[in-house]
Amino acid sequence: MSESRIITNENVLALLKVEDYVNAAKQLLRLQRKDWSQLDSGYKNLTSIKTKSFWFDGFKIGLQFNQGRFKSTSAKVDADTIQNRKCFLCDENLPIEQKGIKILPGYILLSNPYPVFPEHFTIVSIIHKPQEILSSFNDLIKISKILSGGYSLIYNGPRCGASAPDHLHFQAGTKQFMPIENDFHSLKNEFGEFIFEDEIGTITVIDDGLRRFISLETNDENMLSKIFNRVYKIYTRLNSGEGEPMLNIICNYYEDYGWNVIIFLRSKHRSFHYYLEEENRILLSPAAIDLGGVCITPAEKDYEKIDKELLKNILSEVSLNKESLEYIKTELKKEFG
Ligand SMILES: [Zn+2]
Repeated sequence: MSESRIITNENVLALLKVEDYVNAAKQLLRLQRKDWSQLDSGYKNLTSIKTKSFWFDGFKIGLQFNQGRFKSTSAKVDADTIQNRKCFLCDENLPIEQKGIKILPGYILLSNPYPVFPEHFTIVSIIHKPQEILSSFNDLIKISKILSGGYSLIYNGPRCGASAPDHLHFQAGTKQFMPIENDFHSLKNEFGEFIFEDEIGTITVIDDGLRRFISLETNDENMLSKIFNRVYKIYTRLNSGEGEPMLNIICNYYEDYGWNVIIFLRSKHRSFHYYLEEENRILLSPAAIDLGGVCITPAEKDYEKIDKELLKNILSEVSLNKESLEYIKTELKKEFG
């Protein structure tokens, strides 16, 4: 990472000095919108998006028509394509105007030029290394605490939503923007099965008919890390030995009660609708934000076409099937029961 990549604005540096990363990030965004026209158009585009919402049994899923996300939704992430393109998260390939903030040893926080959230950042490893959660989970939870005053953290696995599966990165976006953050407690009460609960933490498996996920809640950082490792090992048993099992994560830290980590379990990258011929194709490629309740399509005709039933079918198809979820529950109970 070249030193010229790091922002040197005095106000930002003063905020970083007192470890106010949230306001430093806000300042960074403001300054970058002035100096970097691509970013500014990305945010201007956000004012023209269309949105609608569908109500399910006590929870909400929104749909956003966002033209700016075309590249990300339709990104080709097969090994050949990845090998033959320049990595767009490596320092030497970032736009010259793009500046960032150092966060934790080893990461830089950058403004995302294709925003979905009102404020949207990418947190990029300064070293080019594969997107992988097992070795980076501790960083994810640390960063989520540092940014907890304003942002939620996101991780997309290399086989289900990361558009740079070869370069480790997280995203941060405006807290409480994804409906699942608001709906979490009612989802847990209505559809959750407790695996483990004591004064230190809670593990719950939730199936709301569309999404299948595990939530980990605790205020003990070491415990969280240990639990995640054990859960990951169990989930890996379902894997047919081809790298990281398919998962997306939304991670939040709350001052009052600690971390809430939502791990979406997946069976597919995209549903069959994505692969239909042009006319019937639906451009929706679910990753953490979509599963969090903000589904994004860059095609207006798809936005018009998608109704509650279709949305349910798409999310349900890419989520882990019920049979495998039962296996996970049984194994988790053996491990933690
Ligand atoms: Zn790279």
